[in-house]
Amino acid sequence: MTRLTAYILLSLTIALVASWFASNPGQVLIVWQEWEVRLSVATLIFLLIIYTAFLWLSVWTMRKLNIFTYFSNPRRLAARRARGEKNLDRAWSAYALEDYKESIKLGLRARSTLGDSGDVLRLLASATRNQSKDKNLYLDQLKSSLVSAPWVLSQELDNSLKQKAWPSAMLLVRDMLKSHPKNKFLLKLNVSLSAQLGNWQEAKVSLRKAMREKGAIKPAEQKHLSAVINYSLALEEKAAGNKNECINLLKSALKSSPSFAPAAQLGARIYIDQGDKKSAEKFLINIWKKNPNSEIGDLLKNLFPSESKGERFRRLKTVSKSEPTFSETYHLLAEIAILAEQWPDAQSALEKVIDSGQASKKTYQTLALLERKQKSDKQASDKLLERSEIVPSDNHWFCSSCQNSPMHYTAVCQKCDTFDKISWFRL
Ligand SMILES: [Zn+2]
Repeated sequence: MTRLTAYILLSLTIALVASWFASNPGQVLIVWQEWEVRLSVATLIFLLIIYTAFLWLSVWTMRKLNIFTYFSNPRRLAARRARGEKNLDRAWSAYALEDYKESIKLGLRARSTLGDSGDVLRLLASATRNQSKDKNLYLDQLKSSLVSAPWVLSQELDNSLKQKAWPSAMLLVRDMLKSHPKNKFLLKLNVSLSAQLGNWQEAKVSLRKAMREKGAIKPAEQKHLSAVINYSLALEEKAAGNKNECINLLKSALKSSPSFAPAAQLGARIYIDQGDKKSAEKFLINIWKKNPNSEIGDLLKNLFPSESKGERFRRLKTVSKSEPTFSETYHLLAEIAILAEQWPDAQSALEKVIDSGQASKKTYQTLALLERKQKSDKQASDKLLERSEIVPSDNHWFCSSCQNSPMHYTAVCQKCDTFDKISWFRL
């Protein structure tokens, strides 16, 4: 009954609408290029009704013939997905070969089957970033997703680090640490970036935070980093004229890492400036036994300018007696022995360097000096000098990041701006 009433009402409405259009005739003009189609409104409505009926009939037929089931068939969907994943794999391969245009093309194909999945967007974002500097919409899309945002930030961080844009890298690290406060990589980077920016107090605080997270930095590295940071803070105190504070920081540095030579060198220099030669000597002898270098050797050699050559030789011979396994020790001893005309000591020290496989330019240059001074044998001396040209260079400060050999140690390399990469390079 209700249905009948509805049909009657519908028929009445259609009749009323039809009679209204009959009494209010109008025309519709469609113009396309040089074509013109003129229709009465009634004809247009009739055509629309026919079109709607056709659409309805098509959907009805597709349902009857199970055509929709064909499109939602699981096997067909799995095959489509496999095709998409294959395209994505090929896109990553093209990316690896730096063919970013091809990578984007394949990535877009994968996107048409896999949709805006994180994998597809990451590929497209990475390839787009490498191909052009235009705005990267894929990155923006990933950034808006809570789960993908850290990946975007890590990409930006990677970029900042590559460009050595330390301030922006620092901001990103701080931002990422808010959501990942225990991330070991970020905690460690927080220390080195603070140091690279010269914020040594911040570096100290960052190191403490990283040390609280087990496994973020290995214990030996913690001690070394603590020494480097305290040494750098000591340099600031020295510049500010706070010598006592400076010495205390250097002592802390050497307590953390007893073989960290730059701290001992700086401590010795400060004591020498203050006229406290005995304290300076203590610092120098201590480090000379553990980790000697040519700068410490020079400080030791010139510590007491008023002593005679013989006194200097005897003093340094005593110092060198304690486990002289380093070429620096033998070289210094040979040099002082030659000055004091102690030829057998000089000869024996240099032979020990050669026997231990540590011979360098300096070894043969000193041997040449010995030949000249002891025997006045210019020919033998020249031969040794020739030999010194073809043997390895002497131990030196070396930056493992930029391969530069600076004259002195610095916590941040002045050439490549990297933290804690300079060390005393031994053969
Ligand atoms: Zn460097």
